[in-house]
Amino acid sequence: MYDAIVTGARISGSAVAMLLARRGYRVLLLDRARFPSPTASSTNLIHPPGVLRLRQWGVLAELTGHTVPEVRRYSLQSGPVRLEAPLEAVSDGDLRVDYALSPPRAALDHAMVRCAVEAGAELREGASVQGLLRDDDGTVIGVTGTSKETGSFSEKAAIVIGADGKNSKIAELVGAAKYRADPVLSKSYWTYWEGLPPESLVRTYRSNRTHPFTWPTHDGLTIVGVAWPTAEFPAASTGDEIDKKVIDAFAGVDPEFAGKLRDTRRADRWLTGAVPNFLRVPRGPGWALVGDASATRDPITASGITHALLGAELLAEAVGDGLSGRRPMAQALSSYRHRRDVLLVDHYDYTRDYAEIADHSPEEQALIEAMSRSPRHARGMIGLFATVVPPAEFYSRTNFRDLFDYLNESGGLPVKIRLLRLLLHGLPGQPAAAAALADRLTAAGLGPMGRLLLRSPKP
Ligand SMILES: Cc1cc2nc3c(=O)[nH]c(=O)nc-3n(C[C@H](O)[C@H](O)[C@H](O)COP(=O)(O)OP(=O)(O)OC[C@H]3O[C@@H](n4cnc5c(N)ncnc54)[C@H](O)[C@@H]3O)c2cc1C
Repeated sequence: MYDAIVTGARISGSAVAMLLARRGYRVLLLDRARFPSPTASSTNLIHPPGVLRLRQWGVLAELTGHTVPEVRRYSLQSGPVRLEAPLEAVSDGDLRVDYALSPPRAALDHAMVRCAVEAGAELREGASVQGLLRDDDGTVIGVTGTSKETGSFSEKAAIVIGADGKNSKIAELVGAAKYRADPVLSKSYWTYWEGLPPESLVRTYRSNRTHPFTWPTHDGLTIVGVAWPTAEFPAASTGDEIDKKVIDAFAGVDPEFAGKLRDTRRADRWLTGAVPNFLRVPRGPGWALVGDASATRDPITASGITHALLGAELLAEAVGDGLSGRRPMAQALSSYRHRRDVLLVDHYDYTRDYAEIADHSPEEQALIEAMSRSPRHARGMIGLFATVVPPAEFYSRTNFRDLFDYLNESGGLPVKIRLLRLLLHGLPGQPAAAAALADRLTAAGLGPMGRLLLRSPKP
């Protein structure tokens, strides 16, 4: 009998197993893979909150044998408008992290597994979970499965955790409902490039319904890729064809960078990846879900690993409360669901909107240009993407009203933006009503993020 059985031993599974084992609980960590193990394709950018956990937990110290540069700035270019800013720091006690990392994924997964085992979790590799044990009330009390070495197995625990990815078997067996779901929204080609000059920068672009992206990863390599809305993803049968499509997409937004791509070389084959979007009910009697099993989102904001780490931390706290008797397990897991939602639902909505890869309107471009002229807003916009600044903080009335002070007059402003600014400056006799109308009109242009603005306090 274990305290917890965790199915899936990569980012979220090893993290929650490690954190529970460090609290002294008896944990069985199961994965059908064997580590080190290659993963499904993933570009592996980890934003500062994820890096903070990896440092705090000692995982980075285990990640040896690779040079992984710290990436301190992110940029967004939309048509002719360019915004670049340093990352806001996140901190916990004396530990402060203001950079992202993009370590090789198989090495990161292996380091996570080793940390879980060093903490005392019992790892069983090559073990595929196929069924659940339940008591008379239907509460989950264990798992069944098969292992290549030992044949079929059956193990019991106080809680069964599904950290088994987007196609979670545990979610299927417990019938965890999906909601806020969208099909695959974007699809990308990406690869590793060598010979590009080192820079501490994540570059993202938006133009002609494409989303080119690039950042330094490990051992002198750079990730280079382009995402398209799924329906517009260009079919290509050879690496040379994809080289051309990707370099052409960069040429449309950043000819200088496209020139550098032409002068250097691809170091690997092209990979492609796409996932649907959904949240799952992440807990029930005797079970909980974490990582992609609990929430899968488009990779366009590169937030899956960071949220898997933070979600594992929340789940370990809740399960620890339940196992220790500090709170009934059901209550602790309800609180986990609430805290998971606070952690990621707004960013999930932001990601789904981003993944439409719609070109920015002239009004949006005028606002992005204003952000580029205001260091605070530029850091906010970058921090939003990097999961450092909560969407509700960035998309607030105060933040957007202030932004209008930074508009660039010289290029000629779109009429709607002039109107909004006029309203914000206040109509004689009706300043509050005019500002409220401006907020409503601003929100209407912000897609799903507009509801956050309208929910924010009035200045
Ligand atoms: C193209 C692409 C690019 C991405 N880029 C980024 C990025 O740059 N940054 C970022 O943060 N995120 C990125 N992501 C998302 C990121 O890869 C995921 O969010 C992350 O891998 C989730 O980790 P996990 O541990 O929850 O699940 P997974 O990594 O999916 O691990 C699940 C594990 O469960 C095991 N398993 C499954 N079923 C069973 C079973 N029945 N029995 C036993 N074991 C089982 C599997 O073998 C696997 O090891 C990207 C995703 C894609 C598709």
